[in-house]
Amino acid sequence: MSTVSTHVFHRHLQRTPPTAVSGKGVYLTDAQGKTYIDASGGAAVSCLGHGHPDVLAAMHAQIDKLAYAHTSFFTTEVAEGLADKLIQSAPQGMSHVYFVSGGSEAMEATLKMARQYFVEIGQPQRQHFIARKQSYHGNTLGALAIGGNQWRREPFAPILMPVTHVSPCYPYREQQAGETPEKYGQRLALELEQAILAKGADQVMAFIAETVGGATAGVLAPVPGYFKAVREVCDRYGVLLILDEVMCGMGRTGTLHACEQEGVVPDLLAVAKGLGGGYQPIGAVLAQARIVDAMREGSGFFQHGHTYLGHAVACAAALAVQQVFERDNLMAQVRARGDFLQNLMHSAWDEHPHVGDIRGRGLFWGIELVQDRGLKTPFDPARRLHARIKQEAMARGLMVYPMGGTVDGQYGDHVLLAPPFIASETELTLVIDRLSSAMDAAI
Ligand code: PLP
Repeated sequence: MSTVSTHVFHRHLQRTPPTAVSGKGVYLTDAQGKTYIDASGGAAVSCLGHGHPDVLAAMHAQIDKLAYAHTSFFTTEVAEGLADKLIQSAPQGMSHVYFVSGGSEAMEATLKMARQYFVEIGQPQRQHFIARKQSYHGNTLGALAIGGNQWRREPFAPILMPVTHVSPCYPYREQQAGETPEKYGQRLALELEQAILAKGADQVMAFIAETVGGATAGVLAPVPGYFKAVREVCDRYGVLLILDEVMCGMGRTGTLHACEQEGVVPDLLAVAKGLGGGYQPIGAVLAQARIVDAMREGSGFFQHGHTYLGHAVACAAALAVQQVFERDNLMAQVRARGDFLQNLMHSAWDEHPHVGDIRGRGLFWGIELVQDRGLKTPFDPARRLHARIKQEAMARGLMVYPMGGTVDGQYGDHVLLAPPFIASETELTLVIDRLSSAMDAAI
């Protein structure tokens, strides 16, 4: 039997990717028997690697009992149990969990929660979102509208809702000479405040940001104090703070939620990817009590709902992932392996003429590639360096997540690393060896 169908609508229509047939630990194997070390968790998804026995056992046990019950008729023990678990470990003030099937859906839900909250509390004139350039929040139309990835937005731009985009926190490119990180963060918070005032302080629903930026600019961690200053600005004008931790959350940066490291609590927090670890499609929005209370005391329901929300097998997988995190003390392991990986990368590339910046946290790292290190000039986007790196990496049995810059090529090419939390030091060393070779071949 042929493993390649001519009928799948693949994301790339001019080539068919290899056929993955099995996965174990940090490795995937294709139909030709070739193995690939998964250094990006796909797209920062497979935090426990592949074939984790505890997650598989939990899924089997749930399937044997009940696979699915529609949430307009029933709740399930496993959905209730997962929500309890997520709230126990959530930042203070988070009281409820709304389940979805993935990251874009989570972000769509946050936008609708924000809007409905203001309708319920008698501020329906608030109709505007502010988000950041160089961001990504998903591919559905609402999520795409708040996102700042020009390449992904471009064909759809005329039909997207209008959103104000302010600067991301991007020290390598945008922190000025002589400006401390703290001052830079304050300048960005002031820019947000000015954007709120320009729109009208009582017109804005929410400011939306990835706590640590991921899929657009190659891992952008905030400077100290940035999110605290942003939280203050939001509070000053009654604007909600929505943090998107679809990619950077669920332990990826070394704490369960990346915002823990910033000392801020958002009003709404979106998680996905690592929540189900790739074993099932699941995402969630964690909400502060006042948002939920406003809906409960108002119309009594959230005007939303997808068919697969709270899917029992997905909840079982996610609950098992949380239990493995705790039992195996994986947050500490992410921090330790992250330090190891960081040192490896610095030894490999500190003198590399085309590695402009190495940045990240935990097991979430971005490498920014430049034509000229001194001038930080990006490569010509027409070279499609990121795509060539991916090809060279796959040829060497390595999965990484490279991305190009914006449409105008302003920010150039990046490689994103997000290996499974269970990756050993030997495996991480192999990743950097193969990536070095792939980058040099592509450049
Ligand atoms: N938000 C962020 C920060 C993401 O990185 C992504 C996906 O990469 C999404 C949202 C969308 O998630 P999904 O692809 O599961 O819809």
